[in-house]
Amino acid sequence: TRTHEDEDLPHATKKTMADHLRKYESLFTLTPQRMRMIVEAFKDSLELGLKKPEQVVPMIPTFVFGWPSGKESGDFLALDLGGTNLRVCLVTLQGEGKFEMTQTKYRLTEEQKQDEGQKLFDFCAECLKTFVDTNFTDGDGKSLLKPGEMLPLGFTFSYPCVQERIDHGKLIRWTKGFGALNTEGRDVAEMFRRSIQKYKVPVVMTALINDTTGTLIASSYVNPRTKIAVIFGTGCNAAYMENVKDIDKIKDLGIDEKAQMAINCEWGAFDSFEHEHLPRTKYDIIVDETSNKPGEQAFEKLISGRYLGEILRLVICELIDEGVLFLGQETYKLETPYVFETAFLSLMESDPTDELLMIIGIFTHFFAVETTLAERQFFRALAMLIGRRAARLSACGIAAIVSKMGYLDEGCLVGADGSLYNKYPGFAERVHEGLFDVFGEKGRNIITHHAEDGSGVGSAIIAAMTKVRRDAGLY
Ligand code: BGC
Ligand code: MG
Repeated sequence: TRTHEDEDLPHATKKTMADHLRKYESLFTLTPQRMRMIVEAFKDSLELGLKKPEQVVPMIPTFVFGWPSGKESGDFLALDLGGTNLRVCLVTLQGEGKFEMTQTKYRLTEEQKQDEGQKLFDFCAECLKTFVDTNFTDGDGKSLLKPGEMLPLGFTFSYPCVQERIDHGKLIRWTKGFGALNTEGRDVAEMFRRSIQKYKVPVVMTALINDTTGTLIASSYVNPRTKIAVIFGTGCNAAYMENVKDIDKIKDLGIDEKAQMAINCEWGAFDSFEHEHLPRTKYDIIVDETSNKPGEQAFEKLISGRYLGEILRLVICELIDEGVLFLGQETYKLETPYVFETAFLSLMESDPTDELLMIIGIFTHFFAVETTLAERQFFRALAMLIGRRAARLSACGIAAIVSKMGYLDEGCLVGADGSLYNKYPGFAERVHEGLFDVFGEKGRNIITHHAEDGSGVGSAIIAAMTKVRRDAGLY
């Protein structure tokens, strides 16, 4: 409610902003009790996914068997197709949990993400070729490879794929705003292999890997206490090691019951379609319904870096429409979907100045609007609410795996990676606080830490583990 004196002011005052904040506080706050309910429902979904194929949370068997020995060694290539970049890495595993790496990054354009899928893989193969050409030729441009030599490659493809073998994977659906045509439902490993042949790149792709699986294996390579891996980046997902005997849906494959296999949970899909468990606000519903995949990735849409800025932007736009913010100013720059980056939330939360100068900077520089101190304090508080909700929901996912696997008493390490985890101030602390709220004191036994580069190093280690099994005739 606006007071009479506010009417004369061009900007919202401290009091009106505080009133509004209270409303958003109650919308975006998760109580411990609510969190425990989410954890229970989450656990049920994980278990269902292991029992039967084609469940909401797919719980994908990865055909990565057990933990690395730490002795894996040799040169391996990794190609990482993530949400934002394309990366090619050359990883030298030195055994004893040590490695060296060289890499090159290539930016993906919005067009490439929506164009023909085969073209996207052609681009991957082209980048790979450039990388191999530069890294495996001598000063005179002569190849350093022996005639016919093929370099082993792990392909980190960070989208949900159903696997029947480690070097195969049928894309269930694109996530993170990708929409490349004629790719869903197809074997992406096969498509990529076609591109590799087309560009005559001297590599053999031995493994198709999700970034979470790579992170799980890379983290355990350097720290064997790691039991779970999570990615909080453009997308959100987790992987852990499961007992083969507890994966009902692959019983018929006749895999040794004593073996262990990494599971790529694809937990970003939790609560998709039915939306029974997660506390979605009307802003979350708009994000969902205006996305290229309405109904899907319901959990991810509340958490990952692709969406947090957009949630905040929608709140701001609502307050502009209600005449609370930026009265008399041109606000069209704020009206384009996704212009408000999640990185701005990080910056707003970390602004150390009393005047909130960094927030002034964001709003004047990117959106050409002036702000009052009261407004800036409000934006910062709003970022805090949205960022904290993301972290606490993340804690619910981790808690579900911990509780399902019985890791609470002995405790475990959780390898975590992604822009949100690495750059968002206080994200890890808020996840830990969330684990405490779910489990009480014992929750402190579950500790996240910055993981090794799963999509590069992890991919290489898995390619190496695969080679060992191949040589032993196990595939
Ligand atoms: C994808 C996962 C991936 C995660 C993090 C999600 O959108 O579905 O496969 O692990 O993003 O990159
Ligand atoms: Mg990545």
